[in-house]
Amino acid sequence: MDIKTPYIWKNWNFIKWDDCVVQHVNHSLHYGSGVFEGIRFYPTSQGPKIFRLKEHILRLFYSAKTMNLSINFSEEEIMQACIDAVKKSNVESGYIRPIIYHKSGNMWLKAENDIEAVVSVWAWGKYLSDNPISVKIPKLRRMAPQTADMKAKVCGYYSNNILASQEIKSEWYDEGLLLDINNNVAEGPWENIFFIKWKDLYTPELWAILPWITRNTIIKILKEKFSINVIEKKILESDIPEFDEAFFVGTAAEVTLIGSITLEGGKKVELESNFSRKIKKLYEEIVTWEVKEYNGWLY
Ligand code: PMP
Repeated sequence: MDIKTPYIWKNWNFIKWDDCVVQHVNHSLHYGSGVFEGIRFYPTSQGPKIFRLKEHILRLFYSAKTMNLSINFSEEEIMQACIDAVKKSNVESGYIRPIIYHKSGNMWLKAENDIEAVVSVWAWGKYLSDNPISVKIPKLRRMAPQTADMKAKVCGYYSNNILASQEIKSEWYDEGLLLDINNNVAEGPWENIFFIKWKDLYTPELWAILPWITRNTIIKILKEKFSINVIEKKILESDIPEFDEAFFVGTAAEVTLIGSITLEGGKKVELESNFSRKIKKLYEEIVTWEVKEYNGWLY
């Protein structure tokens, strides 16, 4: 997949994609100490619009704080960099990837503050299928919140997500669903999960999950448009056969219907998508400027 676009924003300037390189003796490359965001923008009647840009940048700065990266950029500057990068890309719909990292130098774990920020943009279609997908619970557990701040999106943490994805992809499932170290349902490697039973909606409580943007969007729109309060609680793997429906949410995965979940022991739980489909449709309308009351989420 060639995702190259002509320009990249780096430290307040646009430079050519091919000129944007990093020194290989680099704290963040070796130890994963950078922080990043994944943001989508959509084609709308008003031109390309970025969904929930502010909240993504707030998470980026939160993540940086947890890693003690002292940033000499303001939130507004990085937001503007994202808006300018989309304009300069000439791409109608795709993905924005801001990253903040140590550029080089000191390789002690306790790093120096030699920070740079880069924003790239590329065209990106669906991450997972529009049809209900097959999900499998891998053996690998989601890392525990006692080992890292799970609310932060830190490069190094993604080794856990990568290993889980590789485990289930080698068995031809579309996506994984990780349990936490106490065997409660946590999240997908790239998305949060919701379950439906008799019109009630459930999602894992804040513990071993990255809980920010799309999860919050879904909780808000369920309350405001369907008068449904999502119940945040511990969900055991053994609860899964009791559910009628399940769906993944995430910036990349958007709302993804789940057709089946194969439990760790091999039992396959088949799921419907009746109400999930309505939520997916509403989400797709909101991100494309079709629901006026949520247009404030689009930049
Ligand atoms: N969990 C994980 C582990 C993720 O990587 C993502 C994608 N950023 C999500 C959940 C969903 O995140 P978002 O807040 O972007 O919707």
